[in-house]
Amino acid sequence: MQHSESSRLFAEAKQVIPGGVNSPVRAFKSVGLDPVFYDHAKGARVWDADGNEYIDFVASWGPMILGHAPDAVLDAVRGQLERGTSFGAPTAIEVEMAEAVCACMPSIEEVRMVSSGTEATMSAIRLARGYTGRDKFIKFDGNYHGHSDALLVAAGSGLVTLGIPSTPGVTKGTAADTVVLPYNDLVAVAATLAEIGEQVAAIIVEPVAGNMGVVPPAEGYLAGLRTLCDEYGVVLIFDEVITGFRVALGGAQERYGVRPDLTTLGKIIGGGFPVGAFGGKREIMEYLAPVGPVYQAGTLSGNPIAMVAGLALVGALKQPGVYDELERKGARLEAGLRAAVEAAGVPAFLTRVGSMACMFFTDATVSDWKTASTADTARYAAYFGGMLERGFTLAPSQFEATFVGLAHTDEDIDAMTDAAAEVLGRM
Ligand SMILES: *Cc1c(COP(=O)(O)O)cnc(C)c1O
Repeated sequence: MQHSESSRLFAEAKQVIPGGVNSPVRAFKSVGLDPVFYDHAKGARVWDADGNEYIDFVASWGPMILGHAPDAVLDAVRGQLERGTSFGAPTAIEVEMAEAVCACMPSIEEVRMVSSGTEATMSAIRLARGYTGRDKFIKFDGNYHGHSDALLVAAGSGLVTLGIPSTPGVTKGTAADTVVLPYNDLVAVAATLAEIGEQVAAIIVEPVAGNMGVVPPAEGYLAGLRTLCDEYGVVLIFDEVITGFRVALGGAQERYGVRPDLTTLGKIIGGGFPVGAFGGKREIMEYLAPVGPVYQAGTLSGNPIAMVAGLALVGALKQPGVYDELERKGARLEAGLRAAVEAAGVPAFLTRVGSMACMFFTDATVSDWKTASTADTARYAAYFGGMLERGFTLAPSQFEATFVGLAHTDEDIDAMTDAAAEVLGRM
C-alpha cells in the first residue's frame, strides 16, 4: 500500500502545525508510523489521500455510529445551511435537542449544550463545586475526561495524597484538588470519603472506561459509587462522552441501571460536528447562570448546524432494533477476534460492551489502569500496522476502543477478523 501523498502532507503539516496534527494521538506515535491523511468517507469506509480504501473501526473516535456521512445527517445539515449557520441567540432546534436528550436519559432534567466533551466535563466539575461549596473531586486512574487543567492529573503515591500534574502547564495548586483513585475499587473510594468526604464536591467516572482500552465496570461498582455519593453528599458525574447513545440509547446509566446526578455527553451527540453537553438534576443545573451563580457560556453553544446533525443522528438511533443490532455486530466482532487470538496462540484479554471492544495484548485480567498498562504496546503496534496494510483502520493506540457501527455489514466484520487472524498468526 502506497502512502506517498500522506507522507508529503505530513511533512508539510509539520511546518505549520505542532507535530503535524491537531490532536496528539492522530500522529500514530504510539504505533511507530506516520499518520494517514484522510480524504473522504462514506458508510463503513474511509479513503486516504493516496486513494487507498479502508474499512474503518475508529468512527472518528466514536461519533460515527451510523457510519460516515449518513444521509439522514447530511440532509438535515443541508436543510439548515441556507437558514443560517450561527446566531448566538436561542432557537427552536435547541429546545428540541434538549427535549430529545432528556427523553433518552431520564436522569437529565435540564441540559446545557457546549462545543466539546472537554468543555462538558470542565463545566460539570465547576457546577458541582459551586453547588456543594466544596473544592476537591475524585477521578479514576486511566479515565480520561478531556484536557482541562484540573482533569489532567495523575495519581499521587498514597491513597489520599494530592494529585500531581500529568503535564507541564498544569499547576500544582490546580492538581492538589484532584484526588486520583484506582478504577473499579470501591474500597479506595470509601476509605477516601471516610477521611475527606466533607471536602469532596464530585466523583467523575467513565461508567464504562473507554480511554484505557475498554474496561467494563465491575459488578456493583457503579451502584456502590451511587451509595457512597449519597452518604457523603457528593455529586456523582457519569462521563458518558463515549458511552452516551453508544452502549444504549440512554447510555451506560440505562445499561447498568444507575442514576448519576450529572451526565456529560459528546461525540455521538454532535452527529460528527463539535458538540458536548452536560445535564442532570434540575436542582443542580439551576445553579448555572443565568438562573444561578455558576458562570458558564459559549459563543457557538447550541450551534444550529450541529444541533440538526445531532438530532438527526439521535433520531436514527431511536428506531426499534438499533441497539440489538449493535449488540449483535459487537458480539460477531468479539467472537471473530477471540477465534483469531486462540488460533494464533497470542496472549490477549478481550473486553466488549455493546459496540465498543478492545483486545489487550496481555495475559492479565484487565480491570483498571494498573492491569491495562501491562499490555504489550509493541505487539499492538505490529497488529495495527498489519491491519492498516490490509485495509482496516484501528485506533493508533492499544488504549482505545474498536468501534463497530450500523454501517458495518457482517462481511465487513468477518473481513476484519480474518485479517486479524492472519496478522496475529504471523506474530
Ligand atoms: C473524548 C472524551 C472526552 C473529551 O471530549 P473532546 O470532545 O475530545 O473534548 C471526555 N470524556 C471522555 C470519556 C471522552 O472519551
